[in-house]
Amino acid sequence: MCQLELIERERKAAERRLQAARFPAPKALAEFDFAARPSVNRPLILDLARGDYLTKRENVLLVGPSGTGKTHPATALAMAACAQGKRVRFWRVTELITTLREADQERHLLRMRQQLAQLDLLVLDELGYVPASKAGAELLFDVIGTAYERSSVILTTNLAFENWTEVLGNERLTGAALDRRTHRCHIVELTGESYRLQDAKRRRSSAS
Ligand code: ADP
Ligand code: MG
Repeated sequence: MCQLELIERERKAAERRLQAARFPAPKALAEFDFAARPSVNRPLILDLARGDYLTKRENVLLVGPSGTGKTHPATALAMAACAQGKRVRFWRVTELITTLREADQERHLLRMRQQLAQLDLLVLDELGYVPASKAGAELLFDVIGTAYERSSVILTTNLAFENWTEVLGNERLTGAALDRRTHRCHIVELTGESYRLQDAKRRRSSAS
């Protein structure tokens, strides 16, 4: 009886962690076609899924053009972390910046930063060509800096490193974020064309 109750309690807690993470869509590594994306280091991804990087507070950076499959493995890794009992939150970068600015204006930025600081893993999806205002970029880098010190970050971006300054508009802040992101960071590069395009072409050729 007691055993069953424990199992049930853990199941509910796991469900709550998944809910709290706010994933846009569930994704599993089992559904990721590694053969279609040879630039991705499969053993590295499978190793990351075991979660040791979280205890070591290391980070993961997924870099590549749109549609090549960055959000998919980022979500799958983060869902694995939830299953391992970690506190996770998924944010699209643009939404995080908007929410941080609102929190700032409404004077509960401190509370929001405290909540973010309690996470074991922060997923920042789509650091891209957002016309990030100076204030927005500073709020974002502040969150990244804190997360870097206390936990792990999975960051996806379509930007090459050289373009970070241009996009985020501040040499000093970008420099700091770059150091932070490349240090203790597993880098996964995705090259080639969008998965959907590849998939459509494959279907067409197998149909004809
Ligand atoms: P990105 O974040 O790089 O724009 P996504 O990860 O959102 O790309 O991928 C776009 C869509 O294609 C998603 O539905 C994703 O599940 C699917 N997808 C991408 N790459 C693969 C892959 N290698 N195997 C299976 N599905 C993939
Ligand atoms: Mg994406």
